[in-house]
Amino acid sequence: MKKDQLLTRRRALLAGAVAVGAAGTAGVVALRTGGTPEAPSAPAAGAPARHLPEKPSAYRLQPLTGYGPPRAAPRRPPVRHEPLLRISGRGRTMVLTFDDGPDPRYTPGILDTLREYDVRAMFFVCGEMASYNKDLLARMADEGHVVGNHTWSHPLLTKLRRGQIRSEMERTSDVIEDAYGERPQWFRAPYGAWNRAAFQLGAELGMEPLAWTVDTLDWTTPGTGTIVDRVESGAAPGVVVLSHDAGGDRSQSVRALRRYLPQLLDSGYHITVPRRQYT
Ligand SMILES: [Zn+2]
Repeated sequence: MKKDQLLTRRRALLAGAVAVGAAGTAGVVALRTGGTPEAPSAPAAGAPARHLPEKPSAYRLQPLTGYGPPRAAPRRPPVRHEPLLRISGRGRTMVLTFDDGPDPRYTPGILDTLREYDVRAMFFVCGEMASYNKDLLARMADEGHVVGNHTWSHPLLTKLRRGQIRSEMERTSDVIEDAYGERPQWFRAPYGAWNRAAFQLGAELGMEPLAWTVDTLDWTTPGTGTIVDRVESGAAPGVVVLSHDAGGDRSQSVRALRRYLPQLLDSGYHITVPRRQYT
């Protein structure tokens, strides 16, 4: 697609993207920009300020720098009542997330494309998959990606007892720490099905809940072109994109990334990973 076509379409669809933020329960999270701590920034366009913490200063104390190495364990995050859905930051920033892996059939292809374009992404891994593919978590660490906790076996958390939820989350954080080198700071509930116990236990384990803004629905294998279209149509400042690198045949997801990533970059998007701004 020509760049001008892409831009025209994006302009046409920006209104839709803003509507997602306005209609949704959008929490906002701050961005990492090249390792330099950023001052607290305003919510992304379209992100309703009413969803920010009531006392933002309580959650935006100091950047990590100056309080020890960047990998020092962060202080326990607040217990939220809804997941974060988008990110804040200056300019056209977006986050790409890949769930359910790692899978040796698809994850390496995604990592190859990200490396080719020097882009960092988030991988919400399942502990069970991670336990069989620790080498892929090590590669994610080497290449600067962020690994989040997506439970051990991908259950519907709302059907589990509290102790079971804790076990699903804790075991996964343990295997991530072992293979990736640090405990995860982000958590995503399978199927986006959150409950109070998940928010409480996630905070207890040092994790923030991150959902998404744009769902590619790639797991329905709608065709590579459709996945590309959904990402490009949904592209807007602050958007978090959901795709999958495991859980079925994900070859379309791998091929789609090869197409939409260079197009997003050509359109001026900065693809990055979020950082937590309080310590
Ligand atoms: Zn999932």
